[in-house]
Amino acid sequence: MADDSLLGMERILISACLIGQPVRYDGAAKTGADPALLARWRAEGRLVPVCPEVAVGFPTPRPPAEIAGRGEEADGRDVLDGLARVVEATGTDVTAQYLRAAQETVALATARGCRHAVLTDGSPSCGSGFIYDGSFSGATRPGMGVVTAALRAAGVRVWAQGEMAQLEAALAEG
Ligand code: SF4
Repeated sequence: MADDSLLGMERILISACLIGQPVRYDGAAKTGADPALLARWRAEGRLVPVCPEVAVGFPTPRPPAEIAGRGEEADGRDVLDGLARVVEATGTDVTAQYLRAAQETVALATARGCRHAVLTDGSPSCGSGFIYDGSFSGATRPGMGVVTAALRAAGVRVWAQGEMAQLEAALAEG
């Protein structure tokens, strides 16, 4: 079988909740991705769906989780560095599971040759531009989730669902 990368076909890792899978903590899917672009990428065989949290055994629904620690600044990079933790609203520390989710998602991206990912912004796993601030008050701050931090450290470009047109332009440039 031909290697897609030789044919210029970039595979895109994508948050499963963005393609309609009801895997979010609240049992819903996530809207906001460009449906026409998604349909084309899907038809082209580019999409590699993953829910990093469900992949490591979290149930759906599940309690919401946020990144806490290291004051106002903590994000997924700090979790990878052991400087912050991921905590559910119930108080349960789920840092170890989030770290495993990050490792497994990087392994998937590597195995499938994904140099780009479109992930759901705001998530403690998949966020790329903002996350919730650890207070469970609905407040957000700039930052990225644990999976995004690990993917970026591995050289994968991570885009939010609102940046799909920019990714399309980047793919066209090659
Ligand atoms: Fe799963 Fe990421 Fe979607 Fe959360 S944002 S439900 S971890 S794919």
